Amino acid sequence: MESRLSWHEYFMKVASVVSERSTCTRAHIGAVIVKERTILASGYNGAPAGLPHCTEVGCLVYVSRGPDGEEEENCYRTIHAEINAIAQAAKHGVRIDGADIYITASPCYHCVKTLANAGVTNIYYGRPYNLHRIAELIGQAHVNLIYVPLPEEKANLNAEPNPSPDPKTAVERGKE
Ligand SMILES: [Zn+2]
Ligand SMILES: [Zn+2]
Repeated sequence: MESRLSWHEYFMKVASVVSERSTCTRAHIGAVIVKERTILASGYNGAPAGLPHCTEVGCLVYVSRGPDGEEEENCYRTIHAEINAIAQAAKHGVRIDGADIYITASPCYHCVKTLANAGVTNIYYGRPYNLHRIAELIGQAHVNLIYVPLPEEKANLNAEPNPSPDPKTAVERGKE
């Protein structure tokens, strides 16, 4: 008998498919906002509608420095997947208070802040990305961060003798 996808696996897989629409050459990220097992909105990272895409004109990379002094590179041209999902919900008047979000990678600091204030309860992420940068914020904001490995991540984890990270742990250091 074939094993059926769990709801977590299902929504993370949908987020992964959504990420395939991304137009940023640096990273392909997908997000779906879910409430009561229903998808309310989705988003992927890319330039705003009407503007040229990174895939056409290249990324607009800038370097910024966080309060801890750590430098990071981002694409100035694009909107993050999570924010695009929130924008889609806002555009269509869909209430997302109390909803959850599935994102193929853990969110950046700015997206966590916005998700918290949009009323999102649980943030499920498929791949750790600089988790140490958001650990303190997650501890303070009224939002939970939960690891739901992407299908391909799961295969990697199973291949390793000592599977990690712990699904409930938000504070371990993200893979670069
Ligand atoms: Zn880009
Ligand atoms: Zn972000």
